Amino acid sequence: MKLIIHGHRVAVDFDICIGDGACVDVCPEDVFEWVEFEGHPASTKKAAPAREDDCIECVACEDDCPVVAIKIIPM
Ligand code: SF4
Repeated sequence: MKLIIHGHRVAVDFDICIGDGACVDVCPEDVFEWVEFEGHPASTKKAAPAREDDCIECVACEDDCPVVAIKIIPM
């Protein structure tokens, strides 16, 4: 199951994401939202950048992700 990268400004590689939740916890703008992917080997839940237009590019999520699954692409 290949899930690829989700988001344009807040790019999350769903194939790498382990559902750790560090980004969800650290984001000051509440950009992320959990989505379920039953049976995915890395994790069954992924942090989707659902509100990436609200991103202030603080890069806290990129810095805190334990598996380096997030890349912030400056506007
Ligand atoms: S860069 Fe900052 S504001 Fe943007 S998604 Fe990551 S933690 Fe949230």
